[in-house]
Amino acid sequence: MYDIAIVGAGIIGTFIARELSRYKLRIILLEKDNDVANGTTKANSAIVHAGYDAKAGSNKAKFNVLGNAMFDKVCEELDVPFKRIGSLVVAFNREDMKTIQDLYENGRKIGVPNMEIIDEKKVKMMEPYLNDQIVGALYAPTAGIVGPFELAIALAENAIDNGVELLLNNEVKKIEKNKEGYKIYTKDNEINTKYVINCAGLYADHIDRMVSEHSFKIIPRRGQYYLLDKSVGNIVNKVVFQCPTKLGKGVLITPTVDGNILIGPDAENLEDKEATETTKDALNFIKKMVMKSCKKVPLNKNITTFAGLRAEPSTGDFIIEESKEAKGFINVAGIKSPGLSSSPAIAKYVVALVKNTIGQLQEKESFNPRRKKRIRFASLSDEEKSEIIQKDPRYGRIICRCETITEGEIVDAIHRNAGARTVNGVKRRVRPGAGRCQGGFCGPRVMEILARELGEDIKEIVKEGTHSYILTGCTKKEEEEK
Ligand SMILES: Cc1cc2nc3c(=O)[nH]c(=O)nc-3n(C[C@H](O)[C@H](O)[C@H](O)COP(=O)(O)OP(=O)(O)OC[C@H]3O[C@@H](n4cnc5c(N)ncnc54)[C@H](O)[C@@H]3O)c2cc1C
Repeated sequence: MYDIAIVGAGIIGTFIARELSRYKLRIILLEKDNDVANGTTKANSAIVHAGYDAKAGSNKAKFNVLGNAMFDKVCEELDVPFKRIGSLVVAFNREDMKTIQDLYENGRKIGVPNMEIIDEKKVKMMEPYLNDQIVGALYAPTAGIVGPFELAIALAENAIDNGVELLLNNEVKKIEKNKEGYKIYTKDNEINTKYVINCAGLYADHIDRMVSEHSFKIIPRRGQYYLLDKSVGNIVNKVVFQCPTKLGKGVLITPTVDGNILIGPDAENLEDKEATETTKDALNFIKKMVMKSCKKVPLNKNITTFAGLRAEPSTGDFIIEESKEAKGFINVAGIKSPGLSSSPAIAKYVVALVKNTIGQLQEKESFNPRRKKRIRFASLSDEEKSEIIQKDPRYGRIICRCETITEGEIVDAIHRNAGARTVNGVKRRVRPGAGRCQGGFCGPRVMEILARELGEDIKEIVKEGTHSYILTGCTKKEEEEK
């Protein structure tokens, strides 16, 4: 019998798992996909928002400001890059300046520190490549950038290091309430648990409906992006937003924590919770919008496009509470933007909810908040590189030339807790395939390493989802046999 079963291993489920692993509890983290962070957490703007735009008094406002302040510590503990680069909301006319003034006042009410309304000269000094039509901006120095899937993977690893069990490829199909708590059914397993925490993202309404008659609804709201090559350099140094609309924060241009430039998203309500394809119309719209901020943006240096789905709740705000119809069942649902920014504070709050339900929790003396540091070969000095290669020659073999990723780093990513099992899983952990060639050269070599390290037939190695096979057979051998 588990004390707690967490459904969904996105940034929210993994953060809660890691926070709860501080206590003497038996915890299982259930995920339908073949890796953690495969849902909304893998495709978003990756901004740790300062938090001035959510309505004062809402959960979004409360958790964003609290969560933002927690990022330095948790990212340092888990060896995840985080940069507090600040953000600008730019204004093109008087009406926009009024919106910026409203955002500033709202931010002050909520407790966002050190914001400033700046004039066009200061904007130009901060961001020389932005358009001359900009008349001013709201500057929020506490905004930051982080790798959302890298953080979720690190949280899952640290949670497992501290005793949490992770069960991948286990889609929750049914939940029954019983005297002891709940019985969860997946295709291959039946899991008994005293408490359930629902962090199923876009599917959190389906999971809640397994135990409640009157549930909320989650509407998928798609946002699409361009990702530009690192060679573009610092065309912007901060996150540059335009004024928000009813549907979201508007089109932004930002550096990523890995040194690329990200442009997007739009916002489109859909029915399909799996519709992550990109479309010509949306990408053209984003192109037109970003040109308003920065005409010089070199879209010919685009290396990929992608889309993510926001989990828009019918209630309009994050739903973080024990279900009214099922005791011991906590919903953490409708975690749309700024869900990533809020995630550390949401996790702390959920621990408090668990304490309210279970009673005082006993801390584990053995809890280790730190994750084993990973070797980032490309960022080492020549002396450090040769020292590492002497100890382990696999760090001397470059597999991905675009990002300078070694065999040693890939092998390490496979063998850690919550290790990589797929080509994209390796990419999200250590970045082979994230550069200019998008895996065109290193992809087959990554497959060979995965097959060798996992002791699997190379034909069984998938790109991403369970059935996304890359190889179908061996043509030369078949010809020889004829
Ligand atoms: C376009 C876009 C831009 C965004 N930009 C930002 C931003 O800049 N800053 C910010 O703070 N936030 C941003 N967000 C929001 C942020 O990405 C989300 O709040 C966050 O990723 C939500 O995490 P999650 O864990 O709730 O959901 P997910 O990452 O979707 O995780 C849910 C998990 O549950 C699993 N699951 C579902 N059903 C089942 C089942 N039946 N059984 C088992 N497992 C199941 C899924 O496979 C998935 O892994 C953005 C979102 C989008 C889409």
